[in-house]
Amino acid sequence: MHRRLICYDCGRVAEYPAVRCTCGEPLWFDIDPPAAWPDTGKGVWRYADWLPTSTGEGIGMIAGGTPLLRTDRLEDYAGCHVSVKLETTNTTGTFKDRGSAVGLAGTTGTVGTVSHGNMAMSMAAHAAAESRECIVLVPADISTNRLAHIAQYGPTIVRVDGEYGQLYYDTIDWDRGISFVNSDTPLRVAGQKTTALEICEVYAPRVPTAIVLPVSSGGHASSMWKALRELRSTGLIDSVPALYLVQAGACDPIARAFEAGETRVTKSERGTTIAYSIANPDPPSGNRALAAVNATGGAVISVDDDAIRDAQRHLATAAGMSVEPASATALAGLHALSRNGTVSATDDVVLVATGTGFRSAPEPPDSPPVLARADLPEFLESHQGNSYNPPGL
Ligand SMILES: *Cc1c(COP(=O)(O)O)cnc(C)c1O
Ligand SMILES: [Zn+2]
Repeated sequence: MHRRLICYDCGRVAEYPAVRCTCGEPLWFDIDPPAAWPDTGKGVWRYADWLPTSTGEGIGMIAGGTPLLRTDRLEDYAGCHVSVKLETTNTTGTFKDRGSAVGLAGTTGTVGTVSHGNMAMSMAAHAAAESRECIVLVPADISTNRLAHIAQYGPTIVRVDGEYGQLYYDTIDWDRGISFVNSDTPLRVAGQKTTALEICEVYAPRVPTAIVLPVSSGGHASSMWKALRELRSTGLIDSVPALYLVQAGACDPIARAFEAGETRVTKSERGTTIAYSIANPDPPSGNRALAAVNATGGAVISVDDDAIRDAQRHLATAAGMSVEPASATALAGLHALSRNGTVSATDDVVLVATGTGFRSAPEPPDSPPVLARADLPEFLESHQGNSYNPPGL
């Protein structure tokens, strides 16, 4: 296992298992990236030479390796050429599996995580598959639906009373022999680099114009940036795509900092939004996400819940993709970026579909018509050979 860590901001080096630099910013692994694409291997482990650790077990063996699908049917709405990176096909339905697989591979004994959402489910599932104990710290007021989704994998769940946002920092200070793999810990960020490595390998040595993804802690955005830096430094890509990050307007501290031209994110209110998976008022890698956007010529924008619902509906009815609201913010953001002229019609943009819609019940439809059995043949005949255009799009 590779042990050298470095701070993106001040350049200080540190030793694993440090998580944050003495300057306060998050650390990531400092590796010597390979100068050629791999010729074997699947999913996350195809990129073992870019990772601090090798080989996962159980479902950790099959994390990543998700499809990148060119979707003409979203072009009108997106306002450009668009390909979707379908992270929904990971075992637990989100890109978090990439970071969990590497997080488990790089640690021994009991693991822990501070999450009440997708990361908790992903960590619990990956730990279960390796017979490792997993401690999940959730807020005391967690919804029963989410609790059930986490509990199905059998982790040790503790509902914590007190300021939940502070727990992330507490777990760094506590030395209790438990490896916490949180939203931006170096092992997770390393594993989540593979989203970008997979996208870039498809295009290399060229790159898409831009990559658009939702942002919460800034962990995934940091991973993307790290991968792009590594690929650029070895010449495996000719240039670097712009990173566009999208937040929900009700809780958008990174977008606010970007708009104000700041390099530091200020803690915001925890507003309510349907995109609850990305509502983080105090993102631990917020400053690093801002740096990623500034270094790649991208932007951070926010979209409101109506725009998120609209994008979610488009992904389902025009492309057959069920994503959760947090994930649909990426398309809502791309739609807005095209309308304001930041993205143009000839641009080739990759949209990261970060999380599955299968965990929440979709809006119930208007009642479909009821037909007598005897009337069905005529109905079917009148529909033969029809092309489908979703209503209201
Ligand atoms: C975790 C998550 C995000 C945000 O990723 P960060 O690394 O926290 O910025 C976006 N979408 C979904 C579906 C997620 O689960
Ligand atoms: Zn530092």
